[in-house]
Amino acid sequence: MRIGVLAVQGAVREHILSLTRLGAEAVPVRNPEDLRGLAGLVLPGGESTAQWRLLSRSGLVEPLRKALVEGLPTLGTCAGLVLLAKEITNWPERYFGVLDVAVERNATGRQVDSFEATVSVDGLGEVPAVFIRAPAIRRVGPGVKVLGEYENVPVLVQQGTLLGATFHPELTEDLRLHEFFLSLCGKE
Ligand code: GLN
Repeated sequence: MRIGVLAVQGAVREHILSLTRLGAEAVPVRNPEDLRGLAGLVLPGGESTAQWRLLSRSGLVEPLRKALVEGLPTLGTCAGLVLLAKEITNWPERYFGVLDVAVERNATGRQVDSFEATVSVDGLGEVPAVFIRAPAIRRVGPGVKVLGEYENVPVLVQQGTLLGATFHPELTEDLRLHEFFLSLCGKE
């Protein structure tokens, strides 16, 4: 199964490694042509504003938007979730706007406020999670399922074959979230 990892900025290598360990063919996506033949896509964490600038320069915004609207299964982690969100409560822009949640950017504060925790995820159990200047999910639309919470705030959501996590599963050795994502890609 061929899975693209958006490779303009952020934790690209770590996602490629996690997916490869699970037997997927993980490829970096840098140009519109790289989207061809993908069964799924990962939008990694990093810095959403920088990612958007680079996406705009590489001509990827519209092809990616089209792929998302057409239902390409996608996992957005942290900044990737910010790119997917329909609303960003403390930022004037919105990016792809395909996932019906409102997020607050940088809700965990500065880089030094980053932390590791254990999150209980529906169907997977306890999953280790790294939060780095993470967004917080402040509103969830009717078609969105909350799969995991931390301190009563959603940290993992699903809307069909779209998954959004406020944390970084790729920075841990635990592969279960990626495995779950691959199961969604396989259904297409
Ligand atoms: N603070 C970043 C943003 O809003 C996200 C941080 C991350 O991806 N670790 O883009």
